Amino acid sequence: MPATIGVLALQGDVREHQVALEAAGARTVPVRRRAELEAVDGLVLPGGESTTIDKLLRIFELREPLRDAIESGLPVYGSCAGMILLAERIIGGIDGQQTLGGMDVTVRRNAFGRQVDSFEADLEVSGVTDGPDGAAVRAVFIRAPWIEEAGPEVEVLARIPERTTDGTAAGAAAGKIVAARSGRLLATAFHPEVTGDGRVHALFVRLVNGSRRS
Ligand code: GLN
Repeated sequence: MPATIGVLALQGDVREHQVALEAAGARTVPVRRRAELEAVDGLVLPGGESTTIDKLLRIFELREPLRDAIESGLPVYGSCAGMILLAERIIGGIDGQQTLGGMDVTVRRNAFGRQVDSFEADLEVSGVTDGPDGAAVRAVFIRAPWIEEAGPEVEVLARIPERTTDGTAAGAAAGKIVAARSGRLLATAFHPEVTGDGRVHALFVRLVNGSRRS
């Protein structure tokens, strides 16, 4: 039986994640209710707006069940706003903004500043090696966060290189952490679901399969 992976469907680019997960061999289901959450082997928190998703999680009464599920070891992959939700600590959140937590990191929201609102960079991502154009992952950043600080149990998977793809110097962003893993939690500041490169989703599907009881 393929793994069933939910995509939190309160806001954000849900469909693109489903397509990428299915290409990696998973069955997918949108998650809006507690019963749907309880039926999945893993969950994706999509990009969107972390402040809005935070509010909707409370309105849909999913916040506590999701926190419990993360604590019990549910594999979760958060992309962009999803990465913010997985962080224990947040810099630059709005008043009252909460995260779900689970990953011992501090994220900075909208970290790249106004001039570089959205950009692309080719990244070396640890655990991702076998692409058609070599190992690099074309990473699309859209008003993205970065990880400012990571605890000792967090495995850093990717950092911003010195230059983005168009040759722009990364400046203060160079070296910042933009992909990480901690136990069964995976986070990227970028959006692999928009490029057609399914390798990050495949990495998550492997993580989910590895955590399933047979
Ligand atoms: N800036 C957004 C936030 O703070 C994240 C952007 C994204 O998910 N593309 O939630």
